[in-house]
Amino acid sequence: MNLDQKLRILADAAKYDASCASSGSSKRNSLGGSGIGSTEGNGICHSYAPDGRCISLLKILLTNFCIYDCHYCINRVSSNVPRARFAADEIIKLTLDFYSRNYIEGLFLSSGIIRDADYTMEQLVRVARELRETHDFRGYIHLKAIADASDALLAEAGRYADRVSVNVELASETSLHRLAPQKDAQTIKRSMASLREHIDESRSEPNAPRFAPGGQSTQVIVGADTTRDREILERSETLYSAYRLRRVYYSAFSPIPDASKLLPLQPAPLIREHRLYQADWLMRYYGFRSDELFDATEGMLDLEIDPKLAWALRHREQFPVDVNAGPREQLLRVPGLGVKTVERIIAARRVRRIHYDDLQRLHLPLKRSLPFIKVPGDRKRKIIDSSMLDSVLRPKQEQLSLLPVNA
Ligand code: SF4
Repeated sequence: MNLDQKLRILADAAKYDASCASSGSSKRNSLGGSGIGSTEGNGICHSYAPDGRCISLLKILLTNFCIYDCHYCINRVSSNVPRARFAADEIIKLTLDFYSRNYIEGLFLSSGIIRDADYTMEQLVRVARELRETHDFRGYIHLKAIADASDALLAEAGRYADRVSVNVELASETSLHRLAPQKDAQTIKRSMASLREHIDESRSEPNAPRFAPGGQSTQVIVGADTTRDREILERSETLYSAYRLRRVYYSAFSPIPDASKLLPLQPAPLIREHRLYQADWLMRYYGFRSDELFDATEGMLDLEIDPKLAWALRHREQFPVDVNAGPREQLLRVPGLGVKTVERIIAARRVRRIHYDDLQRLHLPLKRSLPFIKVPGDRKRKIIDSSMLDSVLRPKQEQLSLLPVNA
């Protein structure tokens, strides 16, 4: 099999992993002088395909031969797909070739389990080590960490990679046990804890050895089991606080060829993935707790409206917020007001009282935010306080299909 054929198979096999975004990289000063592809200066740009997946990296598997049998995975041992395996040198060559042609900004490298976790992790680390040490490669590297690999190998991975990630795969440990019988939730947690320790150490002192400056991330598959959004976001909340993850990526399950009977036949709606990203964003930047994002019974996010608007409609007693006096935390909960807009409001009201006419100059999305704020000179309040608020703000069905899916 030639390199092109391997690339076709192993790039296709890698597309199911959503956990690659290139944020958080830092300059590789330690090597000094000029080198190939420093990610600093212009920085790594975040480039997404229309379906929201990152495309700026060469995203491949070392191999799609895997001895594990995770039901949701096209590369599982019982799957009937063409198989291929790169030699480490082939990946290095491809990365350098693509990089020098400006096709990519870096490498995302994962793998099926070849013989065992340590052997597989050794191969992944070897690629990263040689790119850095032999070829002075300064592009972005995201290495997938194999959960069962030894701590020494995880430590080595972080020395060369900008980001490392261990996939949680399923938010529910019961589902993980059922759908990925060879994986173990406790081992995944141990690996994440180990990575967190190394990351913390490297940040604690200015001269500490470099370790994954882009931090660690993970992926959760949505819709392959019956886990509700509430449970998924609770898990994410724990992951962010316990292991200080940079990102949790949500990947809507889509049926794979030759699928296991344990899996649903239908794909999870992409809008569900999108709503989870929005809710995740609210937890990380807007001060929401996961339990606030759901009403008492459902445990699922509203697919028609974003979670912040859904929360605001359930809590009309907390509105309107006075634009001239409301605290930052309350302004952040107003639908349509983003973090930057709130900062602009706070800066503007330090100078003088904000009036209705000022809102447009501050680029506020008035249709969404006016029903939830109080501002002098607002002549439309009578209309927007009507009981029709929900239907006015709820998009029409046909508009839903036009929503982007990336976070
Ligand atoms: S370990 Fe599981 S998820 Fe990973 S490649 Fe193998 S079968 Fe797929």
